[in-house]
Amino acid sequence: MTANLLDFDLDGLAAFCERLGEKRFRATQLFRWIHQKGATDFTQMTDLAKSLREKLTGSAHIQGPKVVSRHDSADGTVKWLFDVGAGDVIETVFIPETDRGTLCISSQAGCAVGCRFCSTGHQGFSRNLTTGEIISQLWFAEHFLRQHLGREERVISNVVMMGMGEPLQNYGQLVPALKVMLDDHGYGLSRRRVTVSTSGVVPMIDRLAGDCPVALAVSLHAPEDALRDNLVPLNKKYPIAELLEACTRYQASAPRDFITFEYCMLDGVNDQPAHARQLVALVQAHAARGLSCKFNLIPFNPFPASGLKRSDMPQVAAFAKILMDAGIVTTVRKTRGDDIDAACGQLAGDVQDRTGVEQRMAAQRQGMLGGIKVVVAKGMGV
Ligand code: SAH
Ligand code: SF4
Repeated sequence: MTANLLDFDLDGLAAFCERLGEKRFRATQLFRWIHQKGATDFTQMTDLAKSLREKLTGSAHIQGPKVVSRHDSADGTVKWLFDVGAGDVIETVFIPETDRGTLCISSQAGCAVGCRFCSTGHQGFSRNLTTGEIISQLWFAEHFLRQHLGREERVISNVVMMGMGEPLQNYGQLVPALKVMLDDHGYGLSRRRVTVSTSGVVPMIDRLAGDCPVALAVSLHAPEDALRDNLVPLNKKYPIAELLEACTRYQASAPRDFITFEYCMLDGVNDQPAHARQLVALVQAHAARGLSCKFNLIPFNPFPASGLKRSDMPQVAAFAKILMDAGIVTTVRKTRGDDIDAACGQLAGDVQDRTGVEQRMAAQRQGMLGGIKVVVAKGMGV
């Protein structure tokens, strides 16, 4: 079998080219063809010597993900389902906003962490995605969208690892994919605009700081260990105090000067004023040791097997107010592509409003943000 060049970061591609007897600058040219131009055919790569193109044809290929379906929401959100073989399907979601375009990427088929409120967690773990399967979600979406929207310039400005899977439990495959995102010859995304979201794999947070520091989001969901043990089972291994210490250490190398805490609002479970006050105390205790953070409250996206309910908006607003009154920057995530069941889309909408939380909530209560239409377009443009 020939090598899929989407599996390599630039160093990996340079090593591959070296094995073919080619210099590093050839790898750079090839890398640009793949990631900046979306090329799949070596014969297109006219600035590469014909002899090299022939060698590549015999030893390599560029194979993107297999599209199962595409769902377009009226708000511009696009969700793809990709078949990664053996019955495993993963999701990728694009969320456009006026000033940026965010892609939510999956890192695993299923997830072993098994959080109670997460439908991926309920599915169990199937397997890690390869570097190629991770980066090709961006490769495919970027070049599809450019063509679809008739744009020459970059469409995707931000990536969040908030799709299916726990990225830090697939560390070895994740890091080269992050490097391609950041590489100036690849997608050239700034470290601040690439976010790894984790349920709290403490040793890997430390390794990420050294290997490839990008923005960090940590799924907290509870202010104390007994409750977090129940919601995020990984907490039994890495309890809150250890997790927050890792976050504080991470800040020394992080591209942003704060860590984002995600907090999924579950009716009657973790959304009471007392929980908010506990969070304030927790954050203040760690702030004294150097932790700087902000909160992102995520309205729970219900699914039947969870037996859980979404907190109502006044409850979310009251919770947010307690945090904000204590000086903690708090945003409420707007759900996007809700009606196309963007299982990571509704999570990934890095759509935040620092000032208009109450206003937004009032609008949501009145259904002003609803009305998303579903279009299932199979095989279009792919
Ligand atoms: N495994 C990583 C990243 C993927 S999940 C993590 O847990 O951080 C991305 C975010 O979606 C996490 O904050 C997760 O807690 C949240 N999430 C999962 N299921 C959800 C649901 N049903 N409703 C709202 N948020 C959810
Ligand atoms: Fe895995 Fe994240 Fe879902 Fe938890 S929330 S089960 S860590 S994908």
